[in-house]
Amino acid sequence: RSGRSAALRARMEERLLGARFRYLNQQLYTGSSQDAAQLFRSDPAAFHLYHRGFERQVRRWPERPVQRIVRYLRRRPASLVVADFGCGDCTLAASVRNQVHCFDLVPLSPRVTVCDMAKVPLAAESVDVAVFCLALMGTNLQEILGEANRVLRLGGTLMVAEVASRFEDIRAFLKAMTQLGFRTVSKDLSSSYFYLLEFAKTGPARSGPAAGLRLRPCLYKRR
Ligand code: SAH
Repeated sequence: RSGRSAALRARMEERLLGARFRYLNQQLYTGSSQDAAQLFRSDPAAFHLYHRGFERQVRRWPERPVQRIVRYLRRRPASLVVADFGCGDCTLAASVRNQVHCFDLVPLSPRVTVCDMAKVPLAAESVDVAVFCLALMGTNLQEILGEANRVLRLGGTLMVAEVASRFEDIRAFLKAMTQLGFRTVSKDLSSSYFYLLEFAKTGPARSGPAAGLRLRPCLYKRR
């Protein structure tokens, strides 16, 4: 009897965690990066809960997108300096020889510098590769990508791995990226799970709204 009620309680707790994860996830995708920073500052436990949910979600995928970024970096010189925006558990930094600046809202690893990705503590034109792996979450995309542009040296690389279904119009998105000072170098749209986009910095971001720079929120279904 007590075995059955323990199992029932475990199932209820699981459901509750799932519901809280989906709620937090929705907040991250429908608010600005500043809102996200505020949310996790006021409730650090929420962040850990979010990450448990994220891990569970990613395990269902055939491949973790961050592994694609790891393979990409291993083909390039280890001397390149990398900035990982929304680094999560720092899998990237742990998997390559490069110097990697890891930025996230709460430290899942001691390597993390805690900050809002829209404002990272790096000098202008100080990195060779900027990475957003499933991390373009805030609604202020232009500001976030503008920050990546600021810290990248001219000709530097921007790598974006994002959930495929978030793109409403990939052509419009890539066009908007040119206004932000990025040329498309390659795009892998072959996976139905996530797209992998590689850009090169052509110059500073131009001001004015970049139409087409829109991503749908990534909302998870109840399971
Ligand atoms: N890049 C990692 C984690 C992706 S999950 C991987 O591929 O495994 C997205 C991450 O972005 C989370 O760790 C979340 O905390 C972080 N994040 C979301 N909004 C942020 C913000 N405004 N500033 C910094 N990090 C943010």
